[in-house]
Amino acid sequence: MSQITKTCLYCQTENDNEGENKLCRHCGMELPEKHPNDRNIKVKFFVKAFWLIALFCLVMVFYLPR
Ligand SMILES: [Zn+2]
Repeated sequence: MSQITKTCLYCQTENDNEGENKLCRHCGMELPEKHPNDRNIKVKFFVKAFWLIALFCLVMVFYLPR
Protein backbone atom coordinates (compact mmCIF):
# COMPACT_ATOMS: atom_id res chain seq x y z
CA MET A 1 0.00 0.00 0.00
CA SER A 2 2.54 2.57 -1.07
CA GLN A 3 1.42 5.95 -2.24
CA ILE A 4 4.61 6.59 -4.11
CA THR A 5 4.21 8.46 -7.32
CA LYS A 6 6.76 8.62 -10.06
CA THR A 7 6.95 11.53 -12.41
CA CYS A 8 7.40 10.54 -16.00
CA LEU A 9 10.54 11.99 -17.50
CA TYR A 10 8.94 12.48 -20.86
CA CYS A 11 5.44 13.85 -20.33
CA GLN A 12 5.86 15.07 -16.70
CA THR A 13 2.73 13.34 -15.43
CA GLU A 14 2.54 11.52 -12.15
CA ASN A 15 1.98 7.77 -12.14
CA ASP A 16 1.12 5.98 -8.95
CA ASN A 17 3.26 2.91 -8.72
CA GLU A 18 0.65 0.18 -8.85
CA GLY A 19 1.81 -3.39 -9.27
CA GLU A 20 4.78 -4.08 -11.48
CA ASN A 21 3.84 -1.53 -14.06
CA LYS A 22 6.96 0.41 -14.84
CA LEU A 23 5.55 2.11 -17.88
CA CYS A 24 4.00 5.52 -18.04
CA ARG A 25 0.25 5.39 -18.46
CA HIS A 26 0.23 8.46 -20.65
CA CYS A 27 3.07 8.06 -23.10
CA GLY A 28 4.11 4.44 -22.51
CA MET A 29 7.73 5.28 -21.82
CA GLU A 30 9.70 3.61 -19.05
CA LEU A 31 9.43 5.21 -15.65
CA PRO A 32 12.66 6.04 -13.84
CA GLU A 33 13.88 3.66 -11.13
CA LYS A 34 14.61 6.45 -8.74
CA HIS A 35 12.53 9.49 -8.03
CA PRO A 36 14.01 12.51 -9.72
CA ASN A 37 11.35 14.64 -8.09
CA ASP A 38 12.50 13.52 -4.66
CA ARG A 39 13.77 16.61 -2.91
CA ASN A 40 16.00 14.65 -0.57
CA ILE A 41 18.42 13.95 -3.38
CA LYS A 42 18.68 17.62 -4.21
CA VAL A 43 19.04 18.57 -0.56
CA LYS A 44 21.78 15.99 -0.05
CA PHE A 45 23.59 17.23 -3.11
CA PHE A 46 23.26 20.82 -1.94
CA VAL A 47 24.58 19.98 1.53
CA LYS A 48 27.52 18.13 0.01
CA ALA A 49 28.31 21.02 -2.30
CA PHE A 50 27.96 23.47 0.58
CA TRP A 51 30.42 21.60 2.80
CA LEU A 52 32.81 21.18 -0.09
CA ILE A 53 32.81 24.92 -0.70
CA ALA A 54 33.08 25.68 3.02
CA LEU A 55 36.02 23.29 3.35
CA PHE A 56 37.64 24.83 0.30
CA CYS A 57 37.29 28.30 1.79
CA LEU A 58 38.77 27.15 5.11
CA VAL A 59 41.73 25.55 3.36
CA MET A 60 42.30 28.68 1.33
CA VAL A 61 42.15 30.89 4.44
CA PHE A 62 45.04 28.95 5.98
CA TYR A 63 46.86 28.29 2.72
CA LEU A 64 46.96 31.77 1.31
CA PRO A 65 49.28 34.31 2.94
CA ARG A 66 47.75 37.32 4.53
ZN1 LIG B 1 4.86 9.71 -19.73
